[in-house]
Amino acid sequence: MKTLNQYQFWFVVGSQHLYGPDVLKTVDTHARIMTEGFNAAHQIPCPVKYAGTVTTLDEVTRVMEEANHAADCAGVITWMHTFSPSKMWVRGLGLLNKPYLHLNTQFNRNIPFDTIDMDYMNLNQSAHGDREHGFIAARLRKPRKVIAGYWEEDRMLARIGGWMRSAVGAAVSRTLKVARFGDNMREVAVTEGDKVEAQRQFGWSVNTWGIGELAARVNAVTEAQIDAKMAEYAEKYTMDTDQVDHVRYQARMEMALDTFLQEGGFGAYTDTFEDLHGLAQLPGLATQNLMSRGYGFGAEGDWKSAAILRVMKAMTQDLPGGATFMEDYTYHLEAGRERVLGAHMLEICPSIADGKASIHVDPLGIGGKEAPARLVFDGKAGEAILVTLIDLGDRFRMIVHDIRAEKPMQDMPKLPVARVMWEPMPDLGTGSECWIHAGGAHHSILSYDLTAAEMRDFAEMMGIEFIHIHRGSTVDDLKQTLLVNDLVWKLRY
Ligand code: MN
Repeated sequence: MKTLNQYQFWFVVGSQHLYGPDVLKTVDTHARIMTEGFNAAHQIPCPVKYAGTVTTLDEVTRVMEEANHAADCAGVITWMHTFSPSKMWVRGLGLLNKPYLHLNTQFNRNIPFDTIDMDYMNLNQSAHGDREHGFIAARLRKPRKVIAGYWEEDRMLARIGGWMRSAVGAAVSRTLKVARFGDNMREVAVTEGDKVEAQRQFGWSVNTWGIGELAARVNAVTEAQIDAKMAEYAEKYTMDTDQVDHVRYQARMEMALDTFLQEGGFGAYTDTFEDLHGLAQLPGLATQNLMSRGYGFGAEGDWKSAAILRVMKAMTQDLPGGATFMEDYTYHLEAGRERVLGAHMLEICPSIADGKASIHVDPLGIGGKEAPARLVFDGKAGEAILVTLIDLGDRFRMIVHDIRAEKPMQDMPKLPVARVMWEPMPDLGTGSECWIHAGGAHHSILSYDLTAAEMRDFAEMMGIEFIHIHRGSTVDDLKQTLLVNDLVWKLRY
């Protein structure tokens, strides 16, 4: 799986020949300095490549065609140092099929009041040059991000970095392969969906393999391979069980899953406790460790959650917060202290653990298999988001819910699964009503590193509907938004 710094962003600067060669030389010099500045900024997660200053219709067209064809180019950033008449951009922007960011900035931060003359004015024209550029993107109905401000300023760089993460998510999404072991949990609706439409919209190739094929690989794993995996577990986790053979079986399953996924080039997978024929346990620790290594996962056949988790892990692989498959499990409804206890039967990623996770072996209660080994831990405290993706029949809707996770208010010594406690925004009642009106799933992806801003950009890049439940949300406003969106999406297709 490619890392963040294996993706590049092309910085394309607009100008024209009206001002003579000296101005163009200065524009070029400034663009190089800005590129170096972007590449030195800690907020920028991917390399920026200066792709040149373009001054004619043919130059604009060529650079956009090249960006489309460059496999490592995850997006194009444009900026007009001077005025750059936008009819020159119609063909190139029309062809561009990569995520597109328009920066509205200026090389010089402050007006030099004592010395400013018409030469200075003719060189520093972003204020109106970027408006001409913005018009043509609006005229072309070109999806894009616009970020305005001073290019060296902290918040500006952070927003550029956030957009890059979304664009990397889009690039990962376009080539993502998801393996399903077994089908959806019987009769469950929200984990279903149109896989052909998902491939058209997101690029996901989602296909199914019989669990027997995995079982054969599980049985073929050698004791030496299991020993190596057990050494990894011993380093990362605390062993809190005597049933080591059950843990070794999870190591065996992880080895089998990992080689299957690597050989097939898969970034995500699903399984289901209803289809484990030939396996002794439901993958628990195995799946938890695979998630922590960057794989997407969805339980009960939930391929949409698996794919989104992989995308979100790719967007944040250098960040410490973590991301996991999640489920709203149980409520705490004490007046004034309402909370959600999030968990799953087993499969919560230890990247979100507060401290070291420990390995337990406990019976599952459903599925009729032997007691699976799993990691048990409390999730971190902090601001986070829950993300869900549903198929409404005529479109996909992504719902992002802002939450505040906290240390569970009390210990739960008899609960043998990883858990997170959180307060949904704006409060449990309103937040849950909004989520349920919007049709959000019981499954979601939890991330401490991403915000609704990056997910909104990703949703726009994918051309899907986006709903945000936040501190200021009300049920009335949300219902109005859903009503209008239904109409808008009927008109779009
Ligand atoms: Mn579930």
